[in-house]
Amino acid sequence: MSRFERRETPPQFEDYRQYRPFLRRDFSYRCAYCERAEAILGGDESFEIDHHRPAAKFPEFVGHYPNLYYSCGRCNRHKSNTWPSGGLIAVGFRFADPCQEDMYSEHLQEMPDGQVRPLTNCGSYSCEHIRLNRPALLRWRQEKRRMAEQLRALDHILAAAERDPGARDLVAAIKSLIAQERERLSL
Ligand SMILES: [Zn+2]
Repeated sequence: MSRFERRETPPQFEDYRQYRPFLRRDFSYRCAYCERAEAILGGDESFEIDHHRPAAKFPEFVGHYPNLYYSCGRCNRHKSNTWPSGGLIAVGFRFADPCQEDMYSEHLQEMPDGQVRPLTNCGSYSCEHIRLNRPALLRWRQEKRRMAEQLRALDHILAAAERDPGARDLVAAIKSLIAQERERLSL
């Protein structure tokens, strides 16, 4: 199953940068590669448009919407113009495609310390060239685990409070706030 699904049907634009609002929605305001949300990185200013097949090597796909991915600036710069040779692709060394597959379950395994370990050649290539084990991402994955644990603890407390009929409205309101935070931070 893919990590992201394109739902937008933008018109044809001359300048690929005009696709930005469509990309933000299609990628749920997250980086296609590290999956950090805009809310984590202080807004959309830190985000760029990545050409999955690099523009320098595939000029025919520069303005092709399915080749445009929403990416944080760091992932985009690390990925840059890198693209595997035909020989490498033949033995599975390639970038994972977040619109076609789930890189984090099919090609990588997340370790308790926040590092990702490649499970396949595709995972290895993606991890190396997007630098998915860079310190900021390790810190983010650790923080994400911590926040997810806290939200699960809140779920348990709310499940207990829900048994009190007088507290139902309050519980529903708190649950809605938690759901919004989960969505915002993509937890
Ligand atoms: Zn990123």
